[in-house]
Amino acid sequence: MSLEGAYDPEKEQIVVSFRELLLLEDQLPGKHTDNHTLLRFLRMRDFDLIKAKEAFLNYLKWRKEFRVDAIIKEFKFEEYTEVKKCYPHGFHGVDRYGRPLYIERIGMLDLNALLQITTIDRFLKYHVREQEKTLKWRYAACSIAAKTPISSTTSILDVKDVGMSNFSKPARYLFMELQKIDSNYYPETLHELLIINAGSGFRVLWNVLKAFLDPRTLAKIKVLGSNYRSKLTEVIHPSNLPTFFSGNCTCSDCGGCLSSDKGPWTDPEITDKLQAMNDSEKEFKDGEQSGMSAKETMDFDMENVQIKDFSDAIPTGDDALWQFRGTKVIDKPSLQKIEAFEAALKDAKAKINTLECALEDTKVVLQGLEWHIEELKN
Ligand SMILES: [Zn+2]
Repeated sequence: MSLEGAYDPEKEQIVVSFRELLLLEDQLPGKHTDNHTLLRFLRMRDFDLIKAKEAFLNYLKWRKEFRVDAIIKEFKFEEYTEVKKCYPHGFHGVDRYGRPLYIERIGMLDLNALLQITTIDRFLKYHVREQEKTLKWRYAACSIAAKTPISSTTSILDVKDVGMSNFSKPARYLFMELQKIDSNYYPETLHELLIINAGSGFRVLWNVLKAFLDPRTLAKIKVLGSNYRSKLTEVIHPSNLPTFFSGNCTCSDCGGCLSSDKGPWTDPEITDKLQAMNDSEKEFKDGEQSGMSAKETMDFDMENVQIKDFSDAIPTGDDALWQFRGTKVIDKPSLQKIEAFEAALKDAKAKINTLECALEDTKVVLQGLEWHIEELKN
């Protein structure tokens, strides 16, 4: 496993301990337990193993209840193109580090129109499917393109003309549901959120919304007015910024920037590599070929994408980041089991010791009772 950012053996070790804890309690299912997922839940709870375990088990429970695996496999969002018209949003290229760039023009959301095209329930399913696709496909593609592990997103939220009046009851419900899903089940995937075109109306609303966001998320958010260009270009190259954000891109051949889904994840050269990697592991289905168009990628059956660790997708280099890759802990589940069994043995010995002490205590009590009975007889 390689972390996004600096190499940190302490963090690597705590992921191993977390895995052992889950394994010991027989709560480590085969899926969704890659190091990146475990690390996200640890980070979410400031590396408190017990709290992270609770959050992770909630996540597994939710996956089952929300039928996430079935959504990935079966859910079709036929209203996608129509939804984009009244809710402009989408992935568009990468930031300067190589992270996926996600754009949402919330000020242009026509919620009434949206709810005539789709339902909140269907929109949430679509949102979850996109989250899964980002985790399992977009980050892997970005990691290959940037030659460094990528596991978070940079987002731009355009709030032009947004104010309290936009926050109707269904809008509040949608916001809360999306927020609940993202913060509880997809934690630590946001690198930075740049809110732009914030006017006085939005700033009033923002003071309300802030109460619903956890401090870790809040620290990653920057609220900017209409003078946002220099900050945006500091983080994102103009070629990855649409012209409507004073960048250079129009995606004119793909129906506009928010419909193009452009990025390493739709670049045939990268998808070929991902495909080859998965072909060798026989983890892709025959029909899911490389060079997918944005639409085809949308329909991609992610159930079968098993990129357990993005660092697996990246060529090995001399960088310290990759050091952990070759150690016994990673990609050797049996060694992890041995370590877990050793811990279990230690635990069992401690329990035997406790039982032995309890037995001694019982013997003392029985002895006392015997004496008491003798006294009564006399
Ligand atoms: Zn574009």
